[in-house]
Amino acid sequence: MPQLTRPDLDQLPSYVPGRSAPGAIKLASNEVPYGPLPGVVEAITQAAANAHRYPDMGVVALREALAQRYGVPAGRIATGCGSVALTEHLARATCLPGDEILYSWRAFEAYPIIAAATGATSVRVPNDAGHGHDLPAMAAAVTDRTRMILVCNPNNPTGTAVRRAELDRFLAAVGGNVLVVIDEAYREFVTDEQVPDGLVTYGDRPNVVILRTLSKAWGLAGIRVGFLIAAPAVAETVRKVVTPFSTSAVAQAAALAALAATEEMRRRCDRVIAERTRVTDALRKLVPDLPASQANFVWLPIGDRAVPFATACAAGGVLVRPFPGEGVRVTIGTPEENDTLLALAEDALST
Ligand code: PMP
Repeated sequence: MPQLTRPDLDQLPSYVPGRSAPGAIKLASNEVPYGPLPGVVEAITQAAANAHRYPDMGVVALREALAQRYGVPAGRIATGCGSVALTEHLARATCLPGDEILYSWRAFEAYPIIAAATGATSVRVPNDAGHGHDLPAMAAAVTDRTRMILVCNPNNPTGTAVRRAELDRFLAAVGGNVLVVIDEAYREFVTDEQVPDGLVTYGDRPNVVILRTLSKAWGLAGIRVGFLIAAPAVAETVRKVVTPFSTSAVAQAAALAALAATEEMRRRCDRVIAERTRVTDALRKLVPDLPASQANFVWLPIGDRAVPFATACAAGGVLVRPFPGEGVRVTIGTPEENDTLLALAEDALST
């Protein structure tokens, strides 16, 4: 069989999706467990009646709604098929083969895949001892080939978050010639006041891009809508390279409906946050070095016990996400789901 695709992609790891199984409690993919927000299913049903028509390629109504909500001109916004697609588009917009994309590791597992698919070189800076970004080391790893830096805040899968003073120093050290993408997929779950809202604090910097998603707090993971807020020229370039029509009509309608349900979104996130505290306290009795989480999941740094623990959870009807040899990420579910998880953890980890 001749080599028909790029040989450099042969070694590329595949994205591992969170598992699902009928009837299982799904704590593997960082979704919020309370169903779509009110009004969303109706909006999707209505939009489905026009399924034979192309969506608005300019995503005008949704970008306007986002612009109003976040207090920025619509020209600074680009939407995509999830924020993961926007990360890909940003890589395409910044990197030629051999250019470098810099990120902490371990962070969101799509980053290395996106870098490799773009033909860019991944530069990974190991997480610090507390499982978070080592921003001074990241700043020191910038070279004249670095075109994009991904700061995952809070970080998936470890839940850690970098604070304002560290980020101020980091951005000053990096300077203005490299695009710094602050991936805030979990922003709505942040409670530490020292963890900056990237948009409020750094949104006016021409080299900073804020990446957000409607998949998590807004409950639209299955519909696929993400957005970024950037300097007008950066946003415009991203809109040029976005796969045409990739924010579907159903996604646009669903996103508009979700954004109209802010209060309910907040109420649900607050429930998740309260449960995060309870789950963290309980699991720390079993795993004392569990890092504090600012997201809707917690990280169990249990090394070689990761796979056996995930297997034991699956046997008990709970799906969690193991990272072999490193740890397990557990999404915060409903109180009942979390109780089931905690009982399994007590059994599996107390010896
Ligand atoms: N960034 C981070 C840090 C994530 O954890 C995820 C989802 N796992 C995404 C981006 C992508 O989310 P989506 O494509 O669903 O918007």
